[in-house]
Amino acid sequence: MLPEIIKKFLIDQRKGQGFFCIEMNEKLNIIQYFGKAKEFGVNSPQYDMYIGDYLPVLLTESFDKNFEVPFYNISDNHVCHVYFLKSNKENYLVLIDKSEIFFTTQKYQQFAHNDNIAKNKFKRLSEDLEIAKNQLKKSNQEKATLIAMLSHELGTPLTSILGYSELLMNNDINVEKGLKIINRNAIYLKQMIENTLLFGRTEAGGVQVHLEEISINNLLNSIKSIIQPPAEEKGLKFQIDFRNSETLYIDITRTKQILINLLNNAVKYTDEGFIELRFSVKGENYVFSVVDSGIGIPKVLQKTIFNPWERVEESSATGAGIGLFISKKLAHAIGAELILKHSSKEIGSIFQLIIPIQSKAKLEQTSQEEAQTICKGKTILIIDDDPDILDLIDAFLDSSGLTVFTALDMLKAKVILKKNKIDIILTDYNIGGTKADIHINKIKANNNLPVILMTALPSNQNNKKYKALGFDAVLPKPIDSLLLIQTITLNLKMKS
Ligand code: ADP
Repeated sequence: MLPEIIKKFLIDQRKGQGFFCIEMNEKLNIIQYFGKAKEFGVNSPQYDMYIGDYLPVLLTESFDKNFEVPFYNISDNHVCHVYFLKSNKENYLVLIDKSEIFFTTQKYQQFAHNDNIAKNKFKRLSEDLEIAKNQLKKSNQEKATLIAMLSHELGTPLTSILGYSELLMNNDINVEKGLKIINRNAIYLKQMIENTLLFGRTEAGGVQVHLEEISINNLLNSIKSIIQPPAEEKGLKFQIDFRNSETLYIDITRTKQILINLLNNAVKYTDEGFIELRFSVKGENYVFSVVDSGIGIPKVLQKTIFNPWERVEESSATGAGIGLFISKKLAHAIGAELILKHSSKEIGSIFQLIIPIQSKAKLEQTSQEEAQTICKGKTILIIDDDPDILDLIDAFLDSSGLTVFTALDMLKAKVILKKNKIDIILTDYNIGGTKADIHINKIKANNNLPVILMTALPSNQNNKKYKALGFDAVLPKPIDSLLLIQTITLNLKMKS
């Protein structure tokens, strides 16, 4: 018979599913038990057994007063509350099954935990999404700004080119003057387009370095011919200052591009006074300084002026704010540094391009006479769907000694190849509706000749791709006549 004390206790503990009760003597040895131990996943105790031996969890207890051990994991699938009840000489141990509540709680806890993890993950994803969204928005805004600025910047020289070419066609202007203006504006346009393409390329991380020899005199004078006219148009004095008559071994195109960008800015942001291009050799470096007596850059902006889209708000001149950013990237690409040395309202600005002096490596450049010897009697096939480009390259190759064949499409190119002995091919990538790489392998298999690709998007990565497709060399567009001859000569030389 269940003792009264236990009955009462069990009524109070109705929430339990099952129970098992052990009665012990004063020495805590088991006298009798009620209920089924099996329901707790354990065997029934033996009589006279010490309770601590039956339930080791109790070994640490002193049993001097009532106590409870909540959620005791009695077996693999059972959890119970263990209550010790003292009554006169008898001691009782009551086990109340709490498995269901325990495992349900555990399930809820796990669920809550998973829910927390999911919520956190979702929060992080939302934050990442927000960042990506903002970046995309910023980049879209930047692109929209660039397009707006470019339309404006490109529109101005284009208007001049169209206007003056019309005047020339109607014989309304002195030919030399008209051509000079058209040429200057075309050079400016070319520079803008190059900057825009470079922006894409520097963003993608690919600028090719190409070292060549040039005398400082030639370099500075070629820059002067571009910058002097717009400077004089604004009433500014353009000065060149150099002491050393060095022959430099540098990336001419990139160096010129950076200096022209800086000088264009100097013209743009100077209303009166002068602009100057200085050259000196300092230690291991060539130092080009672009100096102006212009409006200067406020101190607070001097550190960020090389960031993309950074402009001085109050400046009245138009611009996209990417010139300095591109120039700095270009400088890094050729191993140089571009800094703002000084800028103030009172004096103007000094930008410096510092190029480490390269030990003159063996020049790949072939001399003009050598080029003529190699090209003499050879034939070239140029494939491009733009007749103006074909004419232009034909004109570039006029004095090379090469016999030039041109084709506006692949079909015509194949006919020419069948009827003539061709030594080298120069081709655009997109020709009409087709791409040059689809035809190249067949052409090469039949004729075993070098094929040079012209592309507006050269980069180390793209060039590797083009070489893997079978092209022997890549020539950047717009085509540079010297580089064109060099590349053709080099490839003819390698073949022979
Ligand atoms: P932008 O196309 O606006 O000229 P840049 O990146 O070349 O872009 O120049 C960024 C900004 O730096 C310009 O908008 C102008 O405010 C300032 N800046 C650049 N060069 C000069 C200079 N020589 N004198 C004064 N301010 C300059």
